[in-house]
Amino acid sequence: MKTAFFPGNFDPPTSGHLELIERAATLFERLYLGLPDKNEKWPSSFDLMERKALLDTATKHLSNVEVVFFKGLSVDYAKNHSIDVLLRGLRNSQDFDYEYQMAASNRQMTGIETVFFVSSPKYIHLSSTLVRQIARSGHRLHGFVPDSIEEVIFKKLSSQLQSL
Ligand code: ADP
Repeated sequence: MKTAFFPGNFDPPTSGHLELIERAATLFERLYLGLPDKNEKWPSSFDLMERKALLDTATKHLSNVEVVFFKGLSVDYAKNHSIDVLLRGLRNSQDFDYEYQMAASNRQMTGIETVFFVSSPKYIHLSSTLVRQIARSGHRLHGFVPDSIEEVIFKKLSSQLQSL
C-alpha cells in the first residue's frame, strides 16, 4: 500500500476535510496531513499549533493519520520523505482549474502524482472561509466542522466577532 501527503491550510478543519481524510485513510497505508509554515492566502485565524491540535483531535480515531509541518513546496516535502502521492480534494470547476495546474507542475518537477478525491455532495459547498463567516456571525457550527472540535472553533471565531 502507498503513502499519501494531504497538504492544506485547514484554517479551520471542516467536516468536508475530515470526510476526505477518513476515505483516504482506508486506501493508504499512511496519510500525512501537511500544514505549511506560511499561509500565503490570508492571515490565519488559527495559528499553526492550534490547527495541529484541531487536526490531531479530529483524527484521533484514525491510527494511520499523522499531522506534520512543512516549509516550501508540498511536493518537495513528499519527495524528501519518500511519500508516494499527493492528495487533494475537488469540489467544483474552480478547484479543478487550480489543482490541474499544480498537479501537472508537481509531476513535471518531481514525477510525483496527485490523487484527487471528489467531494461528497453533502460537503460540496463547505470551505474553511464559510466556516469562519458563519461563526463570526454568531451561528453555531454543528455539521460544518467535526463534533470533537466544534466548541473550540466556535469559541475562538465568535470571540473575534465581538472584538471587531
Ligand atoms: P488550501 O488553502 O491548501 O486549499 P484548504 O484547507 O482550503 O487548503 O483545503 C485543503 C484541501 O482540502 C484542498 O484540496 C481542498 O480542495 C480540500 N477541501 C476543502 N474543503 C473540502 C470539502 N468540503 N470537500 C472536499 N475537499 C475539500
